[in-house]
Amino acid sequence: MKRWRAFISAKPVVLVLALLLSASFGAIHGLTTAEFAVSAFYLIPICWACWAAGRWAGLLLALACAVIWYLADLATGHTYRHPAIPIWNALMLLALFVTVVYSLSAFREAHGHLLAAQLKLERQNERLEETVQQRTSALRSEIAERKRLEKANLQAERLATVAKIAAEVAHEVRNPLGSITLNLDLIAKQVEKLAGTSRHPAEEAHTLIAEMREEVSRIRLVIEEYLQFARLRKAQRKPVALNELLEQKLAFMGSAFENARVDLRTDFDPRLKTINADAEQLWQAVLNLVHNSLEAMPDGGTLTLSTQKADAEAIIRVADTGKGMSATVLDQLFVPFFTTKAQGTGLGMPLTQQILNEHDAEIECDSAVGKGTTFTIHFPLEQRRRDDRPA
Ligand code: ADP
Ligand code: MG
Repeated sequence: MKRWRAFISAKPVVLVLALLLSASFGAIHGLTTAEFAVSAFYLIPICWACWAAGRWAGLLLALACAVIWYLADLATGHTYRHPAIPIWNALMLLALFVTVVYSLSAFREAHGHLLAAQLKLERQNERLEETVQQRTSALRSEIAERKRLEKANLQAERLATVAKIAAEVAHEVRNPLGSITLNLDLIAKQVEKLAGTSRHPAEEAHTLIAEMREEVSRIRLVIEEYLQFARLRKAQRKPVALNELLEQKLAFMGSAFENARVDLRTDFDPRLKTINADAEQLWQAVLNLVHNSLEAMPDGGTLTLSTQKADAEAIIRVADTGKGMSATVLDQLFVPFFTTKAQGTGLGMPLTQQILNEHDAEIECDSAVGKGTTFTIHFPLEQRRRDDRPA
């Protein structure tokens, strides 16, 4: 169908067909001895040629039609009062045809200009739309980056306050705690002595002392965690072989996984060589995630630690098959002191985030209640210069 249409609109084909049509009108003219008037019909092939093949084709047809009309008129054998009348008539027709050709081609030209202008406008619009889209997406990513930095700054400010208070409290509590521990030891010895001289068994006193010791050691642990904040030093970044670092550190944790009946799986991407990080801090950040995963699987499960090299970043994933988090917990995950655990401090995640912020890394969390949680760290391979960041 398309081919046929292309063939019929080809200029030479149009010309030939238009000439044939004109000749057939001439034949009708001559054969009917001009009883059937056909002069106006010649406009059909002329207009067709002019529209489909241009002004010159139209003029050619106009001339051909005038000649055909003249020859056909001669063929009728009609006798005129003056021999120049048929020539005169042919010239008149020619003038009419030429006028039509000029008008039609002028209209067609204007129409063409209009189409071209419309096409140009459409193209400009398309280009404009493209530019707007590009600018919008650039702006969007800049806004997202700004928001991330604002959030990070806010978090850093909050943490700085927390760290200050924590340091004060820790300092105040640490010394009395030491003397309480010492006194507990003394009391234990006294109880032992008394038990030797009295009839009462010392078991109850020993249980109480053991419980007090346990509480004291828990307070000490909390204080240690607070102090970790207070003492969080500036990251000292060096090239670190990430896979090896994780392997080494995990090797020391074997018993922790065994005790928790957790199956540890690792999947390290060998394409990942070194990243620029403070090794101890980065491990601290990952360790907090690992601890949370272990605590989320009290009846055991699987913990998968993997690394992956992406375009411009190293990806670290910590995935567990634990209890997962509800939307409300997810919302407050990084809020200092937010915890759902009786023995929790709510400082693990904020510390992890703080460390990652220091490294220009980002953390993402994907969690489903009853199914498990996956933390994904995006660590940039190229260290961003501080002055590259938007103010
Ligand atoms: P803490 O562990 O002392 O409670 P964190 O800041 O480490 O404090 O974690 C905050 C809270 O986030 C936890 O109390 C827990 O509710 C939730 N959470 C963190 N990681 C996980 C995880 N892997 N699975 C389920 N819940 C988690
Ligand atoms: Mg924790």
